[in-house]
Amino acid sequence: MKKQFAVIGLGRFGGSICRTLSDQGAEVLAIDVDEDRVNEFTSIATHAVIADSTDETVLKSLGLRNFDHVIVAIGDNIQASILSTLILKELGVKKVTAKAQNDYHEKVLRKIGADQVIHPERDMGARIAHNITSSSVLDYLELSDKHSILEVVAGRKMDGRSIIDLDVRANYGVNIVAIKQSGHINVSPRADEIVNKGDILIIIGADSDIDRFKKQML
Ligand code: ADP
Repeated sequence: MKKQFAVIGLGRFGGSICRTLSDQGAEVLAIDVDEDRVNEFTSIATHAVIADSTDETVLKSLGLRNFDHVIVAIGDNIQASILSTLILKELGVKKVTAKAQNDYHEKVLRKIGADQVIHPERDMGARIAHNITSSSVLDYLELSDKHSILEVVAGRKMDGRSIIDLDVRANYGVNIVAIKQSGHINVSPRADEIVNKGDILIIIGADSDIDRFKKQML
Protein backbone atom coordinates (compact mmCIF):
# COMPACT_ATOMS: atom_id res chain seq x y z
CA MET A 1 0.00 0.00 0.00
CA LYS A 2 1.15 3.53 -0.76
CA LYS A 3 2.44 5.56 2.16
CA GLN A 4 0.09 8.33 3.21
CA PHE A 5 1.48 11.78 3.95
CA ALA A 6 -0.16 14.90 5.34
CA VAL A 7 1.38 18.37 5.16
CA ILE A 8 0.06 21.00 7.57
CA GLY A 9 0.89 24.59 6.60
CA LEU A 10 1.23 25.38 2.90
CA GLY A 11 3.69 28.28 3.00
CA ARG A 12 6.91 28.26 0.97
CA PHE A 13 8.37 25.35 2.93
CA GLY A 14 5.28 23.14 3.39
CA GLY A 15 4.17 23.96 -0.15
CA SER A 16 7.48 22.79 -1.55
CA ILE A 17 7.29 19.52 0.43
CA CYS A 18 3.74 18.98 -0.78
CA ARG A 19 4.65 19.59 -4.44
CA THR A 20 7.69 17.30 -4.30
CA LEU A 21 5.83 14.46 -2.59
CA SER A 22 3.01 14.76 -5.14
CA ASP A 23 5.52 14.82 -8.04
CA GLN A 24 6.94 11.58 -6.67
CA GLY A 25 3.49 10.00 -6.85
CA ALA A 26 2.85 9.94 -3.09
CA GLU A 27 -0.62 10.29 -1.55
CA VAL A 28 -0.67 13.71 0.09
CA LEU A 29 -3.32 15.44 2.18
CA ALA A 30 -2.61 19.20 2.17
CA ILE A 31 -3.97 21.22 5.10
CA ASP A 32 -4.03 24.96 5.83
CA VAL A 33 -6.33 27.41 7.63
CA ASP A 34 -6.03 29.79 4.73
CA GLU A 35 -8.52 29.18 1.92
CA ASP A 36 -6.38 30.74 -0.82
CA ARG A 37 -3.39 28.59 0.11
CA VAL A 38 -5.59 25.45 0.06
CA ASN A 39 -7.05 26.39 -3.35
CA GLU A 40 -3.53 26.54 -4.77
CA PHE A 41 -3.06 22.87 -3.86
CA THR A 42 -6.36 21.33 -4.95
CA SER A 43 -4.91 20.25 -8.27
CA ILE A 44 -1.50 19.27 -6.81
CA ALA A 45 -2.22 17.20 -3.68
CA THR A 46 -4.45 14.12 -3.50
CA HIS A 47 -6.78 16.09 -1.21
CA ALA A 48 -6.56 19.66 0.05
CA VAL A 49 -8.65 20.86 3.00
CA ILE A 50 -9.16 24.05 4.95
CA ALA A 51 -8.63 23.15 8.60
CA ASP A 52 -7.11 24.42 11.81
CA SER A 53 -4.60 21.81 12.98
CA THR A 54 -4.80 23.03 16.60
CA ASP A 55 -8.34 21.64 16.76
CA GLU A 56 -8.14 18.02 17.92
CA THR A 57 -11.69 17.19 16.73
CA VAL A 58 -10.83 18.35 13.22
CA LEU A 59 -7.62 16.30 13.09
CA LYS A 60 -9.53 13.24 14.30
CA SER A 61 -12.30 13.68 11.74
CA LEU A 62 -9.69 13.93 8.97
CA GLY A 63 -8.43 10.52 10.09
CA LEU A 64 -4.91 11.79 10.65
CA ARG A 65 -4.09 9.01 13.11
CA ASN A 66 -3.95 6.59 10.17
CA PHE A 67 -1.37 8.60 8.22
CA ASP A 68 2.17 7.23 8.03
CA HIS A 69 3.93 10.57 8.16
CA VAL A 70 2.68 14.06 9.00
CA ILE A 71 4.79 17.16 8.35
CA VAL A 72 4.01 20.22 10.49
CA ALA A 73 5.26 23.10 8.35
CA ILE A 74 3.61 25.95 10.23
CA GLY A 75 5.89 28.99 10.07
CA ASP A 76 5.71 31.89 12.48
CA ASN A 77 2.94 30.66 14.74
CA ILE A 78 5.09 28.68 17.19
CA GLN A 79 2.18 28.02 19.52
CA ALA A 80 0.11 26.45 16.71
CA SER A 81 3.10 24.37 15.61
CA ILE A 82 3.66 23.01 19.13
CA LEU A 83 0.00 22.31 19.80
CA SER A 84 -0.51 20.58 16.43
CA THR A 85 2.56 18.37 16.98
CA LEU A 86 1.36 17.46 20.46
CA ILE A 87 -2.13 16.50 19.24
CA LEU A 88 -0.71 14.43 16.36
CA LYS A 89 1.55 12.45 18.68
CA GLU A 90 -1.31 11.97 21.15
CA LEU A 91 -3.48 10.66 18.31
CA GLY A 92 -0.76 8.08 17.68
CA VAL A 93 0.66 9.26 14.34
CA LYS A 94 3.73 7.10 13.71
CA LYS A 95 6.02 9.78 12.35
CA VAL A 96 5.74 13.53 12.84
CA THR A 97 8.28 15.88 11.30
CA ALA A 98 8.07 19.47 12.52
CA LYS A 99 9.73 22.65 11.34
CA ALA A 100 11.39 24.71 14.07
CA GLN A 101 11.82 28.48 14.00
CA ASN A 102 14.57 28.63 16.62
CA ASP A 103 16.50 26.47 19.12
CA TYR A 104 13.93 26.94 21.89
CA HIS A 105 11.12 25.85 19.57
CA GLU A 106 13.19 22.82 18.51
CA LYS A 107 13.73 21.80 22.14
CA VAL A 108 10.01 21.93 22.91
CA LEU A 109 9.11 19.99 19.75
CA ARG A 110 11.54 17.23 20.71
CA LYS A 111 10.25 17.11 24.28
CA ILE A 112 6.64 16.62 23.16
CA GLY A 113 7.63 13.75 20.89
CA ALA A 114 8.30 15.09 17.39
CA ASP A 115 10.17 12.29 15.62
CA GLN A 116 12.15 14.64 13.43
CA VAL A 117 12.76 18.35 13.82
CA ILE A 118 14.02 20.34 10.89
CA HIS A 119 15.52 23.78 10.92
CA PRO A 120 15.62 24.75 7.24
CA GLU A 121 16.84 28.34 7.61
CA ARG A 122 19.65 27.43 10.03
CA ASP A 123 20.76 24.39 8.00
CA MET A 124 20.65 26.23 4.69
CA GLY A 125 22.59 29.10 6.29
CA ALA A 126 25.32 26.70 7.45
CA ARG A 127 25.51 25.08 4.00
CA ILE A 128 25.85 28.41 2.27
CA ALA A 129 28.42 29.68 4.80
CA HIS A 130 30.62 26.62 4.18
CA ASN A 131 30.41 27.27 0.48
CA ILE A 132 31.19 30.99 0.88
CA THR A 133 34.22 30.51 3.15
CA SER A 134 35.81 27.92 0.89
CA SER A 135 35.31 27.92 -2.85
CA SER A 136 36.37 24.26 -2.94
CA VAL A 137 33.41 23.23 -0.73
CA LEU A 138 30.37 22.73 -2.95
CA ASP A 139 27.96 21.34 -0.40
CA TYR A 140 27.75 20.52 3.26
CA LEU A 141 25.45 18.29 5.28
CA GLU A 142 25.54 18.19 9.06
CA LEU A 143 25.20 14.59 10.33
CA SER A 144 25.47 15.41 14.03
CA ASP A 145 26.90 18.33 15.98
CA LYS A 146 30.36 16.82 15.40
CA HIS A 147 30.17 15.03 12.04
CA SER A 148 29.52 16.15 8.49
CA ILE A 149 29.47 15.12 4.87
CA LEU A 150 31.13 17.51 2.41
CA GLU A 151 31.26 17.76 -1.33
CA VAL A 152 34.65 19.23 -2.25
CA VAL A 153 36.63 19.88 -5.41
CA ALA A 154 40.03 18.16 -5.55
CA GLY A 155 42.85 20.64 -6.06
CA ARG A 156 46.48 20.56 -7.20
CA LYS A 157 47.72 18.71 -4.10
CA MET A 158 45.57 15.68 -4.87
CA ASP A 159 46.04 15.67 -8.64
CA GLY A 160 47.14 12.36 -10.12
CA ARG A 161 47.36 10.55 -6.78
CA SER A 162 45.56 7.35 -5.86
CA ILE A 163 43.27 7.05 -2.85
CA ILE A 164 45.74 4.68 -1.17
CA ASP A 165 48.60 7.12 -1.78
CA LEU A 166 46.59 10.04 -0.36
CA ASP A 167 45.57 7.82 2.57
CA VAL A 168 43.25 10.47 3.98
CA ARG A 169 41.76 7.91 6.35
CA ALA A 170 45.06 7.36 8.20
CA ASN A 171 46.31 10.93 7.79
CA TYR A 172 43.11 12.82 8.62
CA GLY A 173 40.52 10.29 9.84
CA VAL A 174 38.36 11.24 6.86
CA ASN A 175 36.74 8.83 4.39
CA ILE A 176 36.26 9.44 0.68
CA VAL A 177 32.91 7.76 0.02
CA ALA A 178 32.40 8.75 -3.61
CA ILE A 179 34.14 10.46 -6.52
CA LYS A 180 32.38 12.36 -9.30
CA GLN A 181 34.43 12.46 -12.50
CA SER A 182 33.14 14.07 -15.68
CA GLY A 183 29.49 13.57 -14.83
CA HIS A 184 29.92 9.98 -13.64
CA ILE A 185 29.68 9.13 -9.94
CA ASN A 186 31.67 6.24 -8.46
CA VAL A 187 30.10 5.37 -5.10
CA SER A 188 32.65 2.78 -4.06
CA PRO A 189 36.03 4.05 -5.23
CA ARG A 190 38.83 1.47 -5.08
CA ALA A 191 42.11 2.12 -3.28
CA ASP A 192 43.96 2.42 -6.61
CA GLU A 193 41.45 4.95 -8.00
CA ILE A 194 43.28 8.06 -9.24
CA VAL A 195 41.99 11.47 -8.17
CA ASN A 196 42.38 14.29 -10.69
CA LYS A 197 42.28 18.02 -10.11
CA GLY A 198 38.66 19.16 -10.56
CA ASP A 199 37.14 15.82 -9.48
CA ILE A 200 34.40 16.15 -6.90
CA LEU A 201 34.92 14.13 -3.73
CA ILE A 202 32.22 13.28 -1.21
CA ILE A 203 33.93 13.01 2.16
CA ILE A 204 32.66 12.08 5.59
CA GLY A 205 34.25 12.57 9.00
CA ALA A 206 34.49 14.45 12.28
CA ASP A 207 34.37 18.24 11.81
CA SER A 208 37.83 18.76 13.34
CA ASP A 209 39.37 16.14 11.00
CA ILE A 210 37.56 17.58 7.99
CA ASP A 211 38.90 21.04 8.90
CA ARG A 212 42.50 19.73 8.95
CA PHE A 213 41.91 17.93 5.64
CA LYS A 214 40.50 21.11 4.07
CA LYS A 215 43.41 23.27 5.27
CA GLN A 216 46.13 20.87 4.17
CA MET A 217 44.76 19.11 1.11
CA LEU A 218 42.44 21.54 -0.68
P1 ADP B 1 6.95 29.64 5.25
O1 ADP B 1 8.05 30.35 5.98
O2 ADP B 1 7.24 28.17 5.02
O3 ADP B 1 6.48 30.32 3.99
P2 ADP B 1 4.48 30.55 6.46
O4 ADP B 1 4.48 31.07 7.87
O5 ADP B 1 4.32 31.56 5.35
O6 ADP B 1 5.75 29.64 6.29
O7 ADP B 1 3.35 29.48 6.23
C1 ADP B 1 2.80 28.72 7.22
C2 ADP B 1 1.43 28.26 6.79
O8 ADP B 1 0.85 27.60 7.91
C3 ADP B 1 0.49 29.42 6.40
O9 ADP B 1 -0.07 29.16 5.13
C4 ADP B 1 -0.56 29.38 7.50
O10 ADP B 1 -1.86 29.72 7.02
C5 ADP B 1 -0.51 27.93 7.98
N1 ADP B 1 -0.98 27.77 9.35
C6 ADP B 1 -0.68 28.52 10.42
N2 ADP B 1 -1.35 28.08 11.50
C7 ADP B 1 -2.09 27.01 11.10
C8 ADP B 1 -2.98 26.11 11.75
N3 ADP B 1 -3.27 26.22 13.05
N4 ADP B 1 -3.55 25.12 11.03
C9 ADP B 1 -3.27 24.98 9.71
N5 ADP B 1 -2.44 25.79 9.04
C10 ADP B 1 -1.86 26.79 9.72
